[in-house]
Amino acid sequence: MISATAVNDADNLLDLQSVTKAYKLETKQFLAVKDIDLHIKPGEFVCLLGPSGCGKSTLLRIIAGLNAATSGVVSYHGQPLKGVNPYTTIVFQTFALYPWLTVQENVEIALKARGVPADARTNRALKLIDTVGLDGFESAYPRELSGGMRQKVGFARAMAVEPELLCLDEPFSALDVLSAEALRGELMELWLKKKIPTKAILMVTHNIEEAVLMADRIVIMGKDPGHIVTEIAVTLHQPRQRKDTAFQSLVDKV
Ligand code: ADP
Ligand code: MG
Repeated sequence: MISATAVNDADNLLDLQSVTKAYKLETKQFLAVKDIDLHIKPGEFVCLLGPSGCGKSTLLRIIAGLNAATSGVVSYHGQPLKGVNPYTTIVFQTFALYPWLTVQENVEIALKARGVPADARTNRALKLIDTVGLDGFESAYPRELSGGMRQKVGFARAMAVEPELLCLDEPFSALDVLSAEALRGELMELWLKKKIPTKAILMVTHNIEEAVLMADRIVIMGKDPGHIVTEIAVTLHQPRQRKDTAFQSLVDKV
Protein backbone atom coordinates (compact mmCIF):
# COMPACT_ATOMS: atom_id res chain seq x y z
CA MET A 1 0.00 0.00 0.00
CA ILE A 2 1.21 3.52 -0.77
CA SER A 3 1.21 5.72 2.30
CA ALA A 4 -0.21 9.24 2.27
CA THR A 5 3.23 10.79 2.72
CA ALA A 6 4.66 8.87 -0.23
CA VAL A 7 1.88 10.22 -2.49
CA ASN A 8 2.53 13.69 -1.21
CA ASP A 9 6.28 13.42 -1.83
CA ALA A 10 5.82 12.21 -5.38
CA ASP A 11 3.81 15.39 -6.10
CA ASN A 12 6.74 17.48 -4.97
CA LEU A 13 9.68 18.06 -7.26
CA LEU A 14 12.13 18.31 -4.42
CA ASP A 15 12.15 17.22 -0.80
CA LEU A 16 14.91 17.79 1.70
CA GLN A 17 14.39 16.04 5.01
CA SER A 18 16.66 16.83 7.92
CA VAL A 19 19.57 17.64 5.64
CA THR A 20 22.80 18.37 7.47
CA LYS A 21 26.18 19.15 5.94
CA ALA A 22 29.40 19.11 7.90
CA TYR A 23 32.70 20.15 6.36
CA LYS A 24 35.89 18.69 7.75
CA LEU A 25 38.32 21.37 8.78
CA GLU A 26 41.63 19.72 9.64
CA THR A 27 40.69 17.84 12.80
CA LYS A 28 37.37 19.53 13.53
CA GLN A 29 33.95 19.25 11.91
CA PHE A 30 32.22 22.43 10.89
CA LEU A 31 28.42 22.38 10.54
CA ALA A 32 27.44 24.42 7.50
CA VAL A 33 23.73 23.57 7.59
CA LYS A 34 21.69 21.59 10.09
CA ASP A 35 18.32 19.83 9.87
CA ILE A 36 17.03 21.52 6.75
CA ASP A 37 13.51 20.61 5.66
CA LEU A 38 12.52 22.06 2.31
CA HIS A 39 9.84 21.04 -0.17
CA ILE A 40 9.29 22.45 -3.63
CA LYS A 41 6.24 21.86 -5.77
CA PRO A 42 5.85 22.32 -9.51
CA GLY A 43 4.89 25.91 -10.35
CA GLU A 44 6.68 27.48 -7.40
CA PHE A 45 9.31 30.20 -7.40
CA VAL A 46 11.05 29.85 -4.03
CA CYS A 47 13.72 32.17 -2.62
CA LEU A 48 16.25 31.12 -0.01
CA LEU A 49 17.07 34.34 1.81
CA GLY A 50 19.76 34.65 4.43
CA PRO A 51 23.03 36.29 5.45
CA SER A 52 26.35 35.40 3.90
CA GLY A 53 27.70 32.12 5.28
CA CYS A 54 24.35 30.60 6.29
CA GLY A 55 24.77 27.73 3.85
CA LYS A 56 22.67 28.81 0.87
CA SER A 57 25.23 27.79 -1.75
CA THR A 58 25.92 24.60 0.15
CA LEU A 59 22.23 23.70 -0.10
CA LEU A 60 22.10 24.40 -3.82
CA ARG A 61 25.13 22.19 -4.41
CA ILE A 62 23.49 19.40 -2.43
CA ILE A 63 20.25 19.78 -4.40
CA ALA A 64 22.17 19.68 -7.69
CA GLY A 65 24.02 16.61 -6.45
CA LEU A 66 27.42 18.30 -6.71
CA ASN A 67 27.98 17.68 -2.98
CA ALA A 68 26.53 14.95 -0.80
CA ALA A 69 24.68 15.71 2.43
CA THR A 70 26.36 14.39 5.56
CA SER A 71 23.00 13.18 6.84
CA GLY A 72 19.34 13.49 5.90
CA VAL A 73 17.50 12.66 2.70
CA VAL A 74 17.33 14.54 -0.60
CA SER A 75 14.55 13.28 -2.87
CA TYR A 76 13.60 14.32 -6.34
CA HIS A 77 10.17 13.22 -7.61
CA GLY A 78 9.99 11.20 -4.42
CA GLN A 79 13.14 9.20 -5.25
CA PRO A 80 16.30 9.53 -3.16
CA LEU A 81 18.93 11.43 -5.13
CA LYS A 82 22.11 9.58 -6.00
CA GLY A 83 24.91 11.52 -7.65
CA VAL A 84 24.34 14.49 -9.93
CA ASN A 85 20.73 15.61 -10.24
CA PRO A 86 19.94 15.53 -13.98
CA TYR A 87 16.80 17.68 -13.50
CA THR A 88 18.58 20.80 -12.26
CA THR A 89 21.18 23.33 -13.31
CA ILE A 90 22.68 26.16 -11.32
CA VAL A 91 23.26 29.69 -12.56
CA PHE A 92 26.08 31.18 -10.50
CA GLN A 93 26.75 34.77 -9.49
CA THR A 94 29.31 35.15 -12.21
CA PHE A 95 28.95 32.61 -14.90
CA ALA A 96 32.12 30.96 -16.10
CA LEU A 97 31.96 31.44 -19.86
CA TYR A 98 34.69 30.07 -22.08
CA PRO A 99 36.52 33.19 -23.29
CA TRP A 100 37.68 31.53 -26.51
CA LEU A 101 34.15 30.52 -27.55
CA THR A 102 31.47 32.75 -29.06
CA VAL A 103 28.12 33.40 -27.37
CA GLN A 104 26.50 30.71 -29.51
CA GLU A 105 29.27 28.19 -28.84
CA ASN A 106 29.10 28.91 -25.12
CA VAL A 107 25.39 28.01 -25.13
CA GLU A 108 25.78 25.03 -27.44
CA ILE A 109 28.52 23.45 -25.35
CA ALA A 110 26.02 22.60 -22.60
CA LEU A 111 23.94 20.71 -25.17
CA LYS A 112 26.94 19.00 -26.70
CA ALA A 113 27.85 17.66 -23.28
CA ARG A 114 24.37 16.10 -23.10
CA GLY A 115 24.68 14.47 -26.51
CA VAL A 116 22.18 16.68 -28.39
CA PRO A 117 22.85 16.37 -32.17
CA ALA A 118 24.50 19.34 -33.94
CA ASP A 119 21.42 20.62 -35.83
CA ALA A 120 19.21 20.54 -32.77
CA ARG A 121 21.96 22.22 -30.72
CA THR A 122 22.21 25.13 -33.10
CA ASN A 123 18.45 25.60 -33.30
CA ARG A 124 17.95 25.55 -29.58
CA ALA A 125 20.92 27.81 -28.89
CA LEU A 126 19.83 30.43 -31.41
CA LYS A 127 16.29 30.44 -30.04
CA LEU A 128 17.50 30.91 -26.47
CA ILE A 129 19.97 33.63 -27.37
CA ASP A 130 17.01 35.43 -28.89
CA THR A 131 14.82 34.69 -25.85
CA VAL A 132 17.28 36.27 -23.41
CA GLY A 133 17.60 39.33 -25.64
CA LEU A 134 21.01 38.74 -27.20
CA ASP A 135 19.85 38.46 -30.81
CA GLY A 136 22.66 39.75 -33.03
CA PHE A 137 25.41 38.80 -30.57
CA GLU A 138 25.69 35.12 -31.56
CA SER A 139 29.26 35.50 -32.85
CA ALA A 140 30.48 37.89 -30.18
CA TYR A 141 33.08 36.78 -27.64
CA PRO A 142 32.57 37.18 -23.87
CA ARG A 143 35.17 40.00 -23.66
CA GLU A 144 33.02 42.06 -26.05
CA LEU A 145 29.99 41.87 -23.75
CA SER A 146 28.94 43.83 -20.66
CA GLY A 147 28.54 42.02 -17.33
CA GLY A 148 24.77 41.95 -17.78
CA MET A 149 25.07 40.46 -21.26
CA ARG A 150 27.52 37.82 -20.06
CA GLN A 151 25.08 36.82 -17.35
CA LYS A 152 22.38 36.52 -20.03
CA VAL A 153 24.61 34.02 -21.84
CA GLY A 154 24.87 32.17 -18.52
CA PHE A 155 21.07 32.06 -18.25
CA ALA A 156 20.76 30.90 -21.87
CA ARG A 157 23.29 28.15 -21.25
CA ALA A 158 21.51 27.00 -18.09
CA MET A 159 18.12 27.06 -19.80
CA ALA A 160 19.39 25.28 -22.91
CA VAL A 161 19.32 21.95 -21.10
CA GLU A 162 15.71 22.69 -20.06
CA PRO A 163 16.13 21.99 -16.35
CA GLU A 164 12.95 21.10 -14.54
CA LEU A 165 14.27 22.89 -11.47
CA LEU A 166 16.32 25.99 -12.21
CA CYS A 167 18.64 26.88 -9.33
CA LEU A 168 19.97 30.42 -9.19
CA ASP A 169 22.78 31.40 -6.81
CA GLU A 170 22.67 35.20 -6.35
CA PRO A 171 22.50 35.57 -10.13
CA PHE A 172 22.05 39.36 -10.12
CA SER A 173 24.38 40.37 -7.30
CA ALA A 174 27.47 40.94 -9.45
CA LEU A 175 25.60 43.22 -11.86
CA ASP A 176 25.07 46.96 -11.74
CA VAL A 177 21.64 48.09 -10.51
CA LEU A 178 20.13 48.73 -13.93
CA SER A 179 21.38 45.53 -15.58
CA ALA A 180 20.21 43.52 -12.60
CA GLU A 181 16.72 45.00 -12.74
CA ALA A 182 16.47 44.45 -16.51
CA LEU A 183 17.58 40.84 -16.24
CA ARG A 184 15.17 40.17 -13.35
CA GLY A 185 12.37 41.48 -15.54
CA GLU A 186 13.40 39.24 -18.40
CA LEU A 187 13.57 36.16 -16.20
CA MET A 188 10.12 36.90 -14.73
CA GLU A 189 8.72 37.34 -18.24
CA LEU A 190 10.10 33.94 -19.32
CA TRP A 191 8.86 32.29 -16.15
CA LEU A 192 5.41 33.86 -15.77
CA LYS A 193 4.54 33.58 -19.47
CA LYS A 194 5.84 30.00 -19.50
CA LYS A 195 8.30 30.64 -22.31
CA ILE A 196 10.67 28.14 -20.69
CA PRO A 197 9.68 24.57 -19.76
CA THR A 198 11.16 24.94 -16.26
CA LYS A 199 8.70 23.73 -13.60
CA ALA A 200 10.15 25.46 -10.55
CA ILE A 201 12.79 27.99 -9.64
CA LEU A 202 14.88 28.03 -6.47
CA MET A 203 16.81 31.27 -6.09
CA VAL A 204 19.35 32.11 -3.43
CA THR A 205 19.64 35.75 -2.47
CA HIS A 206 20.57 38.05 0.39
CA ASN A 207 18.50 40.85 -1.13
CA ILE A 208 15.11 41.17 0.62
CA GLU A 209 13.48 43.32 -2.07
CA GLU A 210 14.58 40.94 -4.78
CA ALA A 211 12.98 38.04 -2.91
CA VAL A 212 9.70 39.91 -2.39
CA LEU A 213 9.72 41.02 -6.03
CA MET A 214 10.13 37.56 -7.53
CA ALA A 215 9.20 34.72 -5.18
CA ASP A 216 5.96 32.94 -4.34
CA ARG A 217 7.53 31.80 -1.09
CA ILE A 218 10.52 33.07 0.88
CA VAL A 219 12.43 30.66 3.05
CA ILE A 220 14.43 32.65 5.58
CA MET A 221 17.68 31.20 6.87
CA GLY A 222 19.88 32.01 9.82
CA LYS A 223 23.48 30.99 10.52
CA ASP A 224 25.78 29.20 12.99
CA PRO A 225 24.87 26.62 11.88
CA GLY A 226 22.73 27.35 8.83
CA HIS A 227 19.08 26.62 9.55
CA ILE A 228 15.61 27.63 8.41
CA VAL A 229 14.10 30.35 10.58
CA THR A 230 10.69 30.67 8.94
CA GLU A 231 8.83 30.74 5.64
CA ILE A 232 6.73 33.56 4.26
CA ALA A 233 4.26 33.19 1.38
CA VAL A 234 4.18 36.12 -1.04
CA THR A 235 0.70 36.44 -2.49
CA LEU A 236 1.07 39.86 -4.16
CA HIS A 237 0.08 39.80 -7.83
CA GLN A 238 2.72 39.85 -10.56
CA PRO A 239 4.10 42.12 -11.89
CA ARG A 240 4.92 43.60 -8.48
CA GLN A 241 5.70 47.24 -7.86
CA ARG A 242 8.38 48.15 -5.34
CA LYS A 243 6.52 51.37 -4.46
CA ASP A 244 3.26 49.61 -3.46
CA THR A 245 2.38 49.87 0.21
CA ALA A 246 1.72 46.12 0.38
CA PHE A 247 5.13 45.46 -1.18
CA GLN A 248 6.91 47.75 1.28
CA SER A 249 5.13 46.33 4.31
CA LEU A 250 6.12 42.82 3.27
CA VAL A 251 9.74 43.94 2.84
CA ASP A 252 9.59 45.39 6.37
CA LYS A 253 8.07 42.19 7.72
CA VAL A 254 10.82 40.07 6.15
P1 ADP B 1 26.29 31.16 1.69
O1 ADP B 1 26.12 30.72 0.28
O2 ADP B 1 24.98 31.28 2.43
O3 ADP B 1 27.07 32.43 1.83
P2 ADP B 1 27.98 28.81 1.93
O4 ADP B 1 27.10 27.66 1.66
O5 ADP B 1 28.88 29.25 0.85
O6 ADP B 1 27.09 30.03 2.47
O7 ADP B 1 28.87 28.49 3.21
C1 ADP B 1 28.32 28.12 4.47
C2 ADP B 1 29.46 27.92 5.44
O8 ADP B 1 30.20 26.76 5.08
C3 ADP B 1 30.45 29.07 5.49
O9 ADP B 1 30.86 29.27 6.81
C4 ADP B 1 31.58 28.59 4.62
O10 ADP B 1 32.80 29.17 5.03
C5 ADP B 1 31.57 27.09 4.86
N1 ADP B 1 32.02 26.33 3.68
C6 ADP B 1 31.50 26.36 2.44
N2 ADP B 1 32.13 25.52 1.61
C7 ADP B 1 33.10 24.92 2.35
C8 ADP B 1 34.11 23.92 2.08
N3 ADP B 1 34.22 23.38 0.87
N4 ADP B 1 34.93 23.56 3.11
C9 ADP B 1 34.79 24.10 4.34
N5 ADP B 1 33.87 25.03 4.67
C10 ADP B 1 33.04 25.44 3.70
MG1 MG C 1 26.70 31.61 -1.50
